[in-house]
Amino acid sequence: MFLAIWMAATLASGQTFGDWLGDQPRNEPDYDTILSYRTSAAAFWEIGRAMDAHPDVARVEAIGESTRGVPIWAFHVGPEPQDADHSVLVFANLHALEWIGTDVAVDLLLELLESPPQDVAVTVIPISNPDGRAKVENDLRLDRTVYRRGNAVGVDLNRDWAINRDPPAVWKKIIPAYYGHSAEPLSQPETQAIDALVARNGYTRAASLHSFGGYLYYPWSGAWERPPDHDDFVTLGRAMEAAQGRRAYRTRQLSHWGFFFRACGSEIDHLYGTYGTRAFLVEMTRSGIRPFRLRKDLKTHFRWYNPRRSAKHRERGVIAMRTLIEHPTLDGESDGVQPPELPFGQTLESP
Ligand SMILES: [Zn+2]
Repeated sequence: MFLAIWMAATLASGQTFGDWLGDQPRNEPDYDTILSYRTSAAAFWEIGRAMDAHPDVARVEAIGESTRGVPIWAFHVGPEPQDADHSVLVFANLHALEWIGTDVAVDLLLELLESPPQDVAVTVIPISNPDGRAKVENDLRLDRTVYRRGNAVGVDLNRDWAINRDPPAVWKKIIPAYYGHSAEPLSQPETQAIDALVARNGYTRAASLHSFGGYLYYPWSGAWERPPDHDDFVTLGRAMEAAQGRRAYRTRQLSHWGFFFRACGSEIDHLYGTYGTRAFLVEMTRSGIRPFRLRKDLKTHFRWYNPRRSAKHRERGVIAMRTLIEHPTLDGESDGVQPPELPFGQTLESP
């Protein structure tokens, strides 16, 4: 049944999304089983069923495979990016423990299948780091708590990108451990897959869903100076805040989080610096640590990022993403966006 619809999703192995899904455990979405969040299998089964109910609305594509050969699934809705007024990429779960982003991405995708955008191209990647995610699922099933950020080989995929990798020397000397990044830019198959997708489709807007903090961060994350397209970021950020209403997340340049703080080699600096994409890093929720269960929750890493009652947080995340999609096309955006001048006199090296 799935094979007929999901044609675009052929893997290197020749498998379609339908074939692949058939091998996944067929659990119903059950928010009580794993600390009230969808498992990976439940998330994809829910998407699969919704695609069956709304045939020809979404196109599914394996944009690459993880270190362990698990497909990274992207779901495209609306017109092709080059035919759209603007285009939006939403990707989640780059950090292994941050599941709330996946649930927001899935909720968003289910809504888009019900009411697809007419003039905006949207791509949703619910799980960007399937190997890290699988390790956490295994930990939870075995009832053990392990702090995990990276992929199968432990690389932090949030610090594996090509722009602003090196902080100003002075900070690096003062507190070196603070400014870590991976050994080489785009060293992992997961980051390579997302980079190739953006290179092909030239998204004008993007959001990478993380937790926690309640912020809508924009570049630069690895440089103090303002990005040349600062006004666009503030416009989109304020629109998301306004839509969220009470307890809205706050729009802020990531490097301005604290005077010493720099996130080097982040995905938002890369997408903006390389492709001009107005890319946000959304830190959802204000943590799941409950003041009255402090001792217990501090010991449960999963709970730091994923509050026990997720419904309100998911709603707030989806509202922000819908706004990022629906906010009117900005000046010049319909012709695509251009990469800015890079800070520190950096130049882009072709690989
Ligand atoms: Zn994160």
